[in-house]
Amino acid sequence: MQIQGSGALVTGGASGLGLATARRLAAAGATVTIVDLPSSKGAELAAELGGVFAPADVTSPDEVAAAVAAAQAAAPLRIVVNCAGIAPPAKVLDRDGNPTDLAAFERIIRINLVGTFNVISQASAVIAANDPSESGDRGVIVSTASVAAFDGQIGQPAYSASKGGVHAMTLPIARELARYGIRVCTIAPGIMETPMLAGLPQAAQDSLGEQVPYPARLGRPDEYASLVQQIVENGYLNGETIRLDGAIRMAP
Ligand code: NAD
Repeated sequence: MQIQGSGALVTGGASGLGLATARRLAAAGATVTIVDLPSSKGAELAAELGGVFAPADVTSPDEVAAAVAAAQAAAPLRIVVNCAGIAPPAKVLDRDGNPTDLAAFERIIRINLVGTFNVISQASAVIAANDPSESGDRGVIVSTASVAAFDGQIGQPAYSASKGGVHAMTLPIARELARYGIRVCTIAPGIMETPMLAGLPQAAQDSLGEQVPYPARLGRPDEYASLVQQIVENGYLNGETIRLDGAIRMAP
């Protein structure tokens, strides 16, 4: 799939991995639509990239449909990257050993898993109705899981379940959308240097970096963005979840 001249929609595009991806795709000639929660930052970043800011909550079908329509109006939509996500703790028991409220668990599943599915569903309907590109591809969808899909840290059952779900739905969605010429892949990053880690003290971030076998550091957002570009450009890659984690296996 050629990036030059394509429309690209990036959720979570106002920060971290999504922003690095929006920058990289714009530099490669895509017309980028940043989809994120409402903020002036989103509008400023989109303007800087010569693209569009479409504020939306990924869990809302109406808001996402409007964002997809805005992207398609700017350029034929061919590339979708799902980066919107949250990672707060949601333990099984509270401090007193009582069952926890389900709200925290449900919110993480809703944004990370249901939100990703919602964006894929809304966007693929529009991509499938577009003419195919010269290469025959209509589009490429890349979602973001995590090493947490295959590993598990205390306090993260909802996060692991949500990311395991993003991984697990990749293959059935790729098979369903194959008849439209849409490829679907997922990236499972390790620990990446983004604002999501900002709550952790520097010493804790350094120690996480040291757990990575090689290179012994956190991943960089542009290393994620460069893998997105490779997935978009490699027409035979489909239905796959690719780990991008320096071979880390997390300690509990
Ligand atoms: P980030 O916090 O920098 O960016 C996430 C973005 O998602 C933010 O701009 C936020 O406003 C947006 N967002 C949150 N909820 C939303 C909603 N309901 N609707 C629309 N936008 C919403 O985080 P990041 O590190 O760039 O994470 C990007 C993705 O990568 C997430 O899915 C995250 O789970 C995943 N991931 C991150 C790491 C890491 O170490 N940073 C590791 C593995 C996976």
